[in-house]
Amino acid sequence: MKRIAILGSTGSIGTQALEVIRANPESFELEVITANSNADLLIAQALEFKPNAVVIARDEHYEYVRQALQHEDIKVYAGANALGSVVEMSTVDMVLTAMVGYAGLLPTIRAIKAGKQIALANKETLVVAGQLITELARQHAVNIYPVDSEHSAIFQCLAGEFHNPIEKIILTASGGPFRGRTAEELKHVTKAQALKHPNWEMGAKITIDSASLMNKGLEVIEAKWLFALRNEQIEVVVHPQSIVHSLVQFGDGSIKAQLGLPDMKLPIQYALGYPQRLKSDYPRFSFMDYPQLTFEQPDLKTFRNLQLAFDAMEKGGNMPCILNAANEVAVSAFLHDQVGFLQMSDILESCMAKVTYIANPSYDDYVNTDKEARRQAAALIGK
Ligand code: NDP
Repeated sequence: MKRIAILGSTGSIGTQALEVIRANPESFELEVITANSNADLLIAQALEFKPNAVVIARDEHYEYVRQALQHEDIKVYAGANALGSVVEMSTVDMVLTAMVGYAGLLPTIRAIKAGKQIALANKETLVVAGQLITELARQHAVNIYPVDSEHSAIFQCLAGEFHNPIEKIILTASGGPFRGRTAEELKHVTKAQALKHPNWEMGAKITIDSASLMNKGLEVIEAKWLFALRNEQIEVVVHPQSIVHSLVQFGDGSIKAQLGLPDMKLPIQYALGYPQRLKSDYPRFSFMDYPQLTFEQPDLKTFRNLQLAFDAMEKGGNMPCILNAANEVAVSAFLHDQVGFLQMSDILESCMAKVTYIANPSYDDYVNTDKEARRQAAALIGK
């Protein structure tokens, strides 16, 4: 029985993780759930799963949640600091980081320092501070299990291969809703179009990141840290059907891939259940339904964010942190109709040029970099 804390239980990954836990009551016990502001869903989840504790990050909802759960034996906390405290509870074995964005960094650090195993969905944490996080995980003997489908695929391909060096990995990308479009065509795409992903149903931020290929850029950096790769060992190929979730090439030239229908419950379940493969009745993949699996080069000139992510990784230091902060501000502005689709890349590029570069950042440097990049990005938007 693994005792699980889910940071971000009300989101896309969080609710799918609860489906996995609901279907496997003999394997998992839910200890902690958290939300930012969706108090009603958090309360409903608490009443169903009876966790030990819940956290609502936005203080103003505390009283509402507390009253709704007052007759239950469930501790109710509020505030960002409480997210870090609950993951340290002795009754938690594993923390699923399913919050979105930079806000996931600090609770992840606290969970690692408390020796909790990590199932990592919150890729921004590794993008911002991959070196710090992986070093901390080593120091505290904590394993980080990938939840992202591509990284889960690589992790699955590595089973039984841990002593065989990786020659390279190939991350697959669906290409998103704007695959094949020209820069001219992208100038006027709307947020409604960008939010319509062809294969995956996800939270708003990652869906926009998928449309701009930023998501693939973040995943490239995430892969570097998860699998201790050199930059030149990471390749991206566009695979519009999202069936081959990623591939690993070994020293003999042989390539292993992991395939499956695009359903996040699979990688979530693999991460939570590892090393076991728990049984499931999710729909099965059939080649007859997908007679053609196709692959193509990503268009780095049109989808500049992916190139910018490669550049940030190459530069290292706090550059990926700058990229991430600028992107969070740019995506939010796009979702609020304050900037156009292509302007998001302009904001990233400008912040990467302007924000102070630090080659060997400390935790405090990341915090300051994040603030400075957000300020710069907001100024560019005119906020
Ligand atoms: P959602 O936007 O659907 O959910 C985000 C969750 O985090 C919600 O529970 C939200 O609470 C909570 N949250 C948001 N901001 C804060 C904050 N500042 N403090 C505390 N809690 C917060 O996101 P997704 O589930 O789509 O994505 C979560 C993470 O997983 C991201 O890092 C994403 O890149 C990654 N991921 C997602 C995939 C997917 O299929 N969705 C696939 C692979 C990776 P509330 O509901 O109250 O707002």
